[in-house]
Amino acid sequence: MKKSLYELGEMPPTGHVPEKMYASVIRPDRYGPPEEAFRTEVIDVPPVGRGQVLVYMMAAGVNYNNVWAALGTPVDVIAARQRNGAAEEFHIGGSEGSGIVWAVGDGVKQVRVGDEVILSGCQWDESAADIRAGGDPMMSSTQAVWGYEENFGAFAQFTLVDEYQCHPKPQRLSWAEAAAFLLTGATAYRQLLGWQPNTVRPGDPILIWGGAGGLGSMAIQIVRTFGGRPVAVVSSAARADYCKQLGAEGVLDRSEFTHWGRLPDISDVHASAVWLQETRRFGAAFWEALGEKRAPKIVLEHTGQDSIPTSMYLCDTGGMVVICGGTTGYHADIDLRYLWMRQKRLQGSHFANFQQCRAITELVAKNYIDPCLSYVGEFSEIGRTHQMMRDNAHQPGNMAVLINATSSEA
Ligand code: NAP
Repeated sequence: MKKSLYELGEMPPTGHVPEKMYASVIRPDRYGPPEEAFRTEVIDVPPVGRGQVLVYMMAAGVNYNNVWAALGTPVDVIAARQRNGAAEEFHIGGSEGSGIVWAVGDGVKQVRVGDEVILSGCQWDESAADIRAGGDPMMSSTQAVWGYEENFGAFAQFTLVDEYQCHPKPQRLSWAEAAAFLLTGATAYRQLLGWQPNTVRPGDPILIWGGAGGLGSMAIQIVRTFGGRPVAVVSSAARADYCKQLGAEGVLDRSEFTHWGRLPDISDVHASAVWLQETRRFGAAFWEALGEKRAPKIVLEHTGQDSIPTSMYLCDTGGMVVICGGTTGYHADIDLRYLWMRQKRLQGSHFANFQQCRAITELVAKNYIDPCLSYVGEFSEIGRTHQMMRDNAHQPGNMAVLINATSSEA
């Protein structure tokens, strides 16, 4: 018998779309520590429009963007959507996941009901003038992150995506493994291979912040796959071992240094000298980790305020610091002398386009890259896993939560 609401893991008849679903929901009056911000609620299943796909979710990846969504800062995502006309007073997060195509809207041609898919995390309007003119959709004025800026993300029994967000699930992976590599993997892929001419080439030394994190674990493997020489930064011996096992040529422990954060005022000669001394000590440690005196051709950044001054100093002449986040803060200082005299590039980078998502999916499918799944939580742990991430107390690699998959299927 068809029902209007199914329990988690209780699969409806294929293609039957119930009225209601369980979702892990953030509301403005709960903004704050992620552990308290997410709560399980029953919500209407969203209607499927033209070009859209409704997916029965099996598992979802946990990412930093929904730490920010839970905190309500630096962007109040619900208020921002409402300013653009959205009615919902809640946020269903989750910007990646795995599941089964359950219903398709008019005009959908590339996927069919029953297909097993993984979902990428950005949306855009394929008919936008800037895309039709040949632009990268990630540069389109219509681009927005699904499950962060856009609502109805992966932390629900059903999710609504655009057709081009669906990629074939690598068959060798479980639902949980498939759910949690695409966001960090595709972001790191674009950072390392998307910004000509500063792309990873054989033999290039590459510095990777947070090497044991989601982005970092993907970045180490991508650099290795393309012949580069990854050197990772971490904060513990266990994380250092993890990075070496993934293929890092050397590892730096940032807890052995003290010069983090914004630059001292230039008029404070003593503090500036101490900063430079400590940064050079970090640079010498990089040489030691690499085994030769060469500077990184690319610095993969996402840590932001605490690390940018060091990244900009260390980067090779003509090299690139490529940044996709600001975990430690977004008000960072740069000593511009190093930027212009050594003709370095500071490049912003944000998620990935369709081609880059497909490329990393194929590398994982063909076993060049491990999805680095370290933790699989239950649906009720969505808040807790984001809290672990907020506290930097999570295990290395990527985390997933089960939606409709059971632990035996994950
Ligand atoms: P993650 O798994 O939590 O990894 C972040 C790593 O940062 C941690 O492993 C930690 O490593 C390191 N870290 C923490 N505090 C630090 C500090 N003070 N100084 C230096 N390193 C520090 O998170 P993630 O998934 O890799 O994401 C990282 C950031 O990138 C987040 O801010 C996220 O929002 C952003 N991001 C952006 C995009 C995009 O498309 N724009 C996509 C993915 C992620 P150690 O403590 O071992 O050093």
